[in-house]
Amino acid sequence: LRRNPGEAEFHQAVREVFDSLGPVLRKNPRYVDAAVLERLCEPERQIIFRVPWVDDAGRVRINRGFRVEYNSALGPYKGGLRFHPSVYLGIVKFLGFEQIFKNALSGMPIGGGKGGSDFDPRGRSQHEIMRFCQSFMTELYRHLGEYTDVPAGDIGVGQREIGYLFGQYKRITNRYESGVLTGKGISWGGSLVRTEATGYGTVLFANEMLATKGQDLDGRRVTVSGSGNVAIFAIEKATQLGATAVAFSDSSGYVVDEAGVDLELLKEVKLVDRGRAKDYVDRRPGSRLVTDGSIWDVPTDVALPCATQNELDENDARTLLTNGVVAVAEGANMPTTPEALRLFQEAGTLFAPGKAANAGGVATSALEMQQNASRDSWTFEYTEERLADIMRDVHARCAATADEYGRPGDYVVGANIAGFIKVADAMLAQGVI
Ligand code: NDP
Repeated sequence: LRRNPGEAEFHQAVREVFDSLGPVLRKNPRYVDAAVLERLCEPERQIIFRVPWVDDAGRVRINRGFRVEYNSALGPYKGGLRFHPSVYLGIVKFLGFEQIFKNALSGMPIGGGKGGSDFDPRGRSQHEIMRFCQSFMTELYRHLGEYTDVPAGDIGVGQREIGYLFGQYKRITNRYESGVLTGKGISWGGSLVRTEATGYGTVLFANEMLATKGQDLDGRRVTVSGSGNVAIFAIEKATQLGATAVAFSDSSGYVVDEAGVDLELLKEVKLVDRGRAKDYVDRRPGSRLVTDGSIWDVPTDVALPCATQNELDENDARTLLTNGVVAVAEGANMPTTPEALRLFQEAGTLFAPGKAANAGGVATSALEMQQNASRDSWTFEYTEERLADIMRDVHARCAATADEYGRPGDYVVGANIAGFIKVADAMLAQGVI
């Protein structure tokens, strides 16, 4: 805490992982002897830079850019860029720390990193976004490369922003290096299923958990917070599997649609028009917008928090449990507070932590890198089957590790220990670096 003052989210993420590791450290003192935990608390490299840009009124604006290259034991640094006014070093470090273990769990040869800026894209014109992305990449490019560091999207960074970032990288380096960014458009090096992968994967993981109890998603009520990339495709996959998505949200409030979310309308409002929750309600009879209270007040069988960190707290967990929730799967990173998590665990609710449940996104990014390296492009069906296999493997690995360490059904412990062992063994093999 003294080395990293004021970085509350980073402390929370580290504590959550380290709390799981007691049994593995007792069994393998070599991790302690080699100071693996201390090393894991210190990113390999942290880059903070000025991002100057000019707004449409001709005013010079300054934002702060970050890239935390956290751990490269398993491969090049890999993790998204977040553009949101709340971004500061503590957020980027928490996300980078989580990413190390998630990437290890995915089974792909990728290390952990994360980046972003306190730039707020909301209300900015397309030209302002482009100029910001170009300025951001004008500094960041020197740290990137397909064998070094490969960013992707996150909150506020979708295919449009990846396009502007890629264009600037190409212009500066004079290289068409497809593998330097993932989340690209299909016609210029992207992978089918990458857009859908995080949301789809989260739902597939939830279904795997339910299957251990002889249940599935068919006929279930599902609540999904957020209405961005992860949330929309979580709703899509849940609907395909026979569930009814009854609520979604954005930062202006939440929408209840008892008839089931109209996915085509939601995509049009959010992905095409870049509109707000209210625009959905205006066009969808029978739905309503709630601007106070919490989306978790809506009675549901399965809760999928897919917006942001610490969005589901103790009170929300109590309400969900009272309303009979059977499973929670985190599409977002660390959306559940530690107090809420404790309540779910005490109640025996199936609970999938983000580093396992949302690993499908980065895993499909690694599939995009494979396609770029072989100059190939796979079909939607083939790529989706690969994603489904990966999610089954991640689920099986977490479940088996939880069993092995005497915590059957505890996916938090399973994910933390399985991810840790893979990274720690690679770090030990590579010496004191
Ligand atoms: P998007 O920017 O596409 O969507 C984010 C959604 O969450 C928006 O609806 C946004 O509402 C809402 N939201 C964000 N911050 C807040 C907040 N502080 N309060 C209320 N609502 C908020 O991001 P993604 O869908 O890509 O990411 C969502 C989560 O999933 C993040 O935690 C991210 O780290 C995680 N994730 C994403 C992956 C990916 O592949 N994209 C991979 C793995 C994890 P509004 O538009 O009003 O701000």
